Amino acid sequence: MDVYEIYKELGISKEVYELGEKVLKDLEERFLEFDKVAEFNQLKILRAMQKNKVSAECLLGTTGYGYNDLGRETLEKVYADTFKGEDALVRPQITCGTHALALALMSNLRPGDELLSPVGKPYDTLEEVIGIRPSMGSLAEYGISYRQVDLLSNGDFDFEGIKAAINEKTKLVTIQRSKGYAMRPSLSVDRIGELISFIRKIKKDVIIMVDNCYGEFVETKEPLEVGADMIVGSLIKNPGGGLAPTGGYIVGKKECIENAAHRLTSPGLGKEVGASLSMNQSLFQGFFLSPTVTCGALKAAVFAANLYERLGYYVVPGGSEKRCDIIQSVELKTADALIAFCKGIQAAAPVDSYVTPEPWDMPGYDSQVIMAAGAFVQGSSIELSADGPLKEPYAVYFQGGLTWYHGKIGILNSLQKLVDANLVKGTLI
Ligand SMILES: *Cc1c(COP(=O)(O)O)cnc(C)c1O
Repeated sequence: MDVYEIYKELGISKEVYELGEKVLKDLEERFLEFDKVAEFNQLKILRAMQKNKVSAECLLGTTGYGYNDLGRETLEKVYADTFKGEDALVRPQITCGTHALALALMSNLRPGDELLSPVGKPYDTLEEVIGIRPSMGSLAEYGISYRQVDLLSNGDFDFEGIKAAINEKTKLVTIQRSKGYAMRPSLSVDRIGELISFIRKIKKDVIIMVDNCYGEFVETKEPLEVGADMIVGSLIKNPGGGLAPTGGYIVGKKECIENAAHRLTSPGLGKEVGASLSMNQSLFQGFFLSPTVTCGALKAAVFAANLYERLGYYVVPGGSEKRCDIIQSVELKTADALIAFCKGIQAAAPVDSYVTPEPWDMPGYDSQVIMAAGAFVQGSSIELSADGPLKEPYAVYFQGGLTWYHGKIGILNSLQKLVDANLVKGTLI
């Protein structure tokens, strides 16, 4: 059987395919490392599931108030044990990552408190949560102030600046693990640990939250193991394993989770209510698959980095750099190239492969944005997806892939579209 035959049917030329194979030859060791991390994390989750006696009954759901939802309560224990927290809130009622982060912040801060970001500007959508951009219901409207210390130009922490920014009002520190749509480096768990120890020396009892989006199961350690009080993320990214249809999580100190639960539902009700409907099975099963899915996404990211780096493109992180999250950016330099790349990803999707992505004026952005996603779960970015704003340097942000093989065809197809449109300089060697 010749694998190329089927690639050919999918529109991949021999030269693009062969270039991909050449790049892959040098990645065997990296891939083995990712497999080892996945193996470790798989066992960690399995152990948490066994310890907490996940049963067939846990896979059923509740309706109405959702009192005594065995599945929901057990799932939260499994998350807490896996991520090494005291308690967890894992709910379909948390609508997305931004909601989970807003919930963690709003429930643990009080009027007069100050929030500090020591790693620069947080993810775009948090600007409105915090009130950096004025917005209805922001922390600023509730009298919660905000300070930010940017990273130094070489990517290091500005320890002097952080020390100067911490004051008697500083109640909560937010650290974003993944770079999001910034060009700064993502943070490894060890670097997060370094920052946390420094901050604790200045103010011991400050609450430290880590925005864990896109970072889960990339390493064998998670931020709670290096001193964070809370980690927060989305279930339609890594920990949902592609099966969770919606939801978000917060894991950490008991008191932080209690605060969040009483804000999500109601004072007096807390974690006791919240029907899981028929979602428990997908949330358990997706979490179980998450290390493997994350591993596939990492392989796809590193493959893309090395393929495009070889062709002379600037990629972040670099092809041989250590991975801290599953996002890969490639500077494509022109609008045409960015559009062609996204068309290639879209055309390689299992769902909506026949539609053509077009740039559009997305709310909250100062330039047009193009997005490619043909996903089983709407907006899921653990599934193969790519997007980028149509402005200099025309960087595409690429992530996900439910399987490594799908990631591979997606990336090959992105390059094929660039080649077809005559947008790749030189020859493919
Ligand atoms: C995706 C993401 C968010 C927000 O999640 P949504 O589910 O899109 O609301 C926040 N922070 C980071 C770093 C992210 O990657």
